Amino acid sequence: MAQFAVIGLGRFGVTACLELSKQGHTVCAADISESTVNHYADQLSFTVVVDASDETQLARLDLPSCQAVLVAIGENIEASILCVLHLKNLGVKQIWVKACTKSHHQILSKLGVDRIIHPEEEMGVRVAQALNYPMVNQYFPLNQSTFIVELGIDLQLSGRKIGWLLKERNSDIKPLTLRRDDYFNTELTNDTELRHGDSLVLLGSKTYLTKLAKRFRAL
Ligand code: ADP
Repeated sequence: MAQFAVIGLGRFGVTACLELSKQGHTVCAADISESTVNHYADQLSFTVVVDASDETQLARLDLPSCQAVLVAIGENIEASILCVLHLKNLGVKQIWVKACTKSHHQILSKLGVDRIIHPEEEMGVRVAQALNYPMVNQYFPLNQSTFIVELGIDLQLSGRKIGWLLKERNSDIKPLTLRRDDYFNTELTNDTELRHGDSLVLLGSKTYLTKLAKRFRAL
């Protein structure tokens, strides 16, 4: 289990805190507003009032021992940027920041933060892609061109074999696991049969996975 810190307890920051806690991690949840901190004190294990634009206050939190610090300060771009500068100064290992505007993004990228997040845009893209390819339950980008996707096997594909599904793309897409109820089959071959309700997890290039999803949609 790791230790994380989230600074800024708006809807985005709180959701991240609750999910990290659910996964068993220790989370330091910080906000400038005392009433906000008090509001979440029961649900989160460690909450603290802090002005993230003040380095002395941040220095009291032992942030360098966190695996990552998420800066989730929304509208107050100045505070977000100052906070990032202080975190860098303090030697924080991984800094993830929620960006609000294009200029906020540009400054963050010049400061060299590890990840810039645009929650609305990222969610919008995900929703559009899920609508476009309804059989893709989940996907995870490993880099810009390589993805892991989970496909839901519907009635039309039930009874088909993995070899049929991947056809000539056999060498470009690697089936990682087939989940049937709570059982994960990792010994997959071309002869493994798919059943309605299974989830098939594949690793491959975005181009080939998209082609596969398009073929599914056309069935
Ligand atoms: P969301 O869009 O995720 O709801 P908000 O902009 O509403 O985000 O919330 C951001 C949070 O960041 C607020 O709870 C606010 O009190 C907090 N915040 C703003 N400035 C600072 C600061 N200097 N230090 C710490 N927290 C701050």
